Amino acid sequence: MMNKKKSELSNDRPDSDPSSRDRPDSTVEYPLVQGQVSVYPKDGVCPWCRLQPILEPNSFVVLSGGGLLMNRKEKVGGPSRKIDGFLDLTWHEAHGDSCEDEAGKCILPMAQNVFGGQFGVICCSVQCLRGILNHWLDTMEREIDGTKNEAVHGDM
Ligand SMILES: [Zn+2]
Repeated sequence: MMNKKKSELSNDRPDSDPSSRDRPDSTVEYPLVQGQVSVYPKDGVCPWCRLQPILEPNSFVVLSGGGLLMNRKEKVGGPSRKIDGFLDLTWHEAHGDSCEDEAGKCILPMAQNVFGGQFGVICCSVQCLRGILNHWLDTMEREIDGTKNEAVHGDM
């Protein structure tokens, strides 16, 4: 059923919500894809719940991204060795009162220098992908907090 009411959707959630920020086995490290590794995970098991098999013949959700090297004349494009793919979260601190203050910066890549330019992160469900995305954002938040604390306590 595609058109469930919101209340029905919330009843579908299991007691242990897989999008919960506390993953049973918290070994997700960033970047998830890098260099020759363009697909995460490699083992055919959902990287968030670590319970469900992914890829065919199972159902799965893919966060895919990257670029296409275009041949504008032929109106076709595809992956290319000339392209490296990336997906970053970047935070830039406000400048301080002094022009000489160096602003803090955090960059947390999900995809870094992926050969060919295209990548995919695969989960068994939208809930599990949400878990990964929440984890990515939470990790970024912790890094930002760490940068702010360094700035406050760094001169001691
Ligand atoms: Zn899963």
